[in-house]
Amino acid sequence: MNLSVVVPCFNESEVIDAFHGALLAALEPTGETFEICYVDDGSADPTRDRLRALAAGDPRVRYTSFSRNFGKESAMLAGLRMTRGEAVVLMDADLQHPPELLPRMLELRRHGYDQVVARRDRTGEGAVRTAFSRAYYRLVRGFMDVEIADGSGDFRLLSRRAVDAVLTLPESNRFSKGLFSWIGFDTVTFAYQNAERAAGQSKWGGRRLLNYGIDGLLSFNSRPLRLAIHGGLWLFLSALVYALWIIANVLLNGVDTPGYATLITAVVALSGIQLATLGVIGEYVGRIYHEAKRRPHYVVRETETDRPATGPDRA
Ligand code: UDP
Ligand code: MG
Repeated sequence: MNLSVVVPCFNESEVIDAFHGALLAALEPTGETFEICYVDDGSADPTRDRLRALAAGDPRVRYTSFSRNFGKESAMLAGLRMTRGEAVVLMDADLQHPPELLPRMLELRRHGYDQVVARRDRTGEGAVRTAFSRAYYRLVRGFMDVEIADGSGDFRLLSRRAVDAVLTLPESNRFSKGLFSWIGFDTVTFAYQNAERAAGQSKWGGRRLLNYGIDGLLSFNSRPLRLAIHGGLWLFLSALVYALWIIANVLLNGVDTPGYATLITAVVALSGIQLATLGVIGEYVGRIYHEAKRRPHYVVRETETDRPATGPDRA
């Protein structure tokens, strides 16, 4: 098998058939042998029934369905584990990742690249979200040990050995953009024009995006902790200098200045910094706790090899 396409789906029943049609239209003319691995991330709409029907009618279609919503990262992991192809493409179900780009990705793969990344521009996206994303990626570049480009999402082709490398990474808190960058290999990026979601709704509200961003920052290093130590040391030094200055002032001039304002400011500023630092430490401790439990990333409800009593009949 040449190609596996992994598609995480969460409440995508409105677009899944259109997506599937577009995907077949793009793949069939290439003459490659392929499979399509859908992962239903615990959808509350008829997505699962649609996938079951698609798989029943076509041996190239496979699916895994989760027992509840485990998030896109878990869905992508399950999809990658399903794949058997020599190359794997990850794409969204909402037609924001145009299937027409697949031949181009396969072409670049033939040139020997292990990762082919389709990078979207930001046409049609809200100005606020664009500004925040830009700022975030600047911050990430400053902090992280891995390189993540603005706009390069999860739409990419990976070679078999790149997929195997990603699957060796055991962390339960998965931030794929970072993992893909971490594994290395020759990577090529090309740009495409951002498209609106074909139907249905984006699942990424502001809070979810913010949490995702924090995950990204903390997943790959302990630099925020280092920053807290540096900040603490500098504060301690300046406090020392200030104390010496006060003592000298009293000894030389004999004045003791009332200093409510300075005191309050110092107390408030310091507690702020301490709270933030504690938060950072807590975040890391929480992550250790989370990893230490070693829970599976998801629970499977059914796959195309199960034959649920209510499902369509298959031999
Ligand atoms: N998705 C998923 N689980 C989730 C949220 C999203 O599998 O908990 C899938 C979703 O079905 C889609 C892709 O991830 O195929 C991208 O989601 P969405 O379009 O909502 O994100 P956006 O394009 O707005 O970043
Ligand atoms: Mg989308």
